[in-house]
Amino acid sequence: MNLILMGAPGAGKGTQSAKISEKYNIPAVSTGDMLRSAVKAGTELGLSAKGYMDSGKLVPDDVVVGIIKEYLSTEACKNGFILDGFPRTIPQAEALEAMGVKIDVVLSIEVPDEKIIARMSGRRVCTCGASYHVEYIKPQVDGVCDKCGSKLYIRDDDCAETVANRLKTYHAQTEPLKDFYAERGILVTVEGQEEVSDTTALVLETLDKAQA
Ligand code: ADP
Ligand code: ZN
Repeated sequence: MNLILMGAPGAGKGTQSAKISEKYNIPAVSTGDMLRSAVKAGTELGLSAKGYMDSGKLVPDDVVVGIIKEYLSTEACKNGFILDGFPRTIPQAEALEAMGVKIDVVLSIEVPDEKIIARMSGRRVCTCGASYHVEYIKPQVDGVCDKCGSKLYIRDDDCAETVANRLKTYHAQTEPLKDFYAERGILVTVEGQEEVSDTTALVLETLDKAQA
């Protein structure tokens, strides 16, 4: 299954993507994670991306398209993949089509802006990719990752002002992709639930149906 996961920042794409990856045994790739590792490693790519990310803007299309193109050509993606956070603009979606990549399902997780804002203020993440929330998804030990034991941190772009900008960017540049993929008959939507596990159940059920 070649899957695109959509949803506003903080809609829970990363969490659901890990569950889907486990169930269908296909790799998940997050352009956000890739860009953050580049920032951390201080590569040229990272240096050019950081300013955009910290202010809640999108990194230029050609940069992320290049990253994805490289990734999708690897052996790991042969039996399917999950794209989390790509495409994020119409030109990115067009670039994906131009690569000849066939997408089976585009799943959009819908969460109202007010909820997003409440969630993001409590988000804590780990360098290993795990993600927690001070109220909703607590780690076993405060501030420490369950999976790898590293210290959790707050993402630079999770501050209130940047969150507001990221939401604006999402509605203006990414949401039009829903129409783009609805026209192609492959869009399915799921309402994000209060409980993460309820959302996961809905997501997996929806994907099973979409595949059948
Ligand atoms: P979220 O979905 O929570 O906003 P991500 O981790 O997916 O966070 O992305 C963080 C930031 O990385 C984005 O705000 C943006 O600056 C950049 N980014 C990630 N994916 C893309 C993309 N496909 N196109 C452009 N910028 C991207
Ligand atoms: Zn960890």
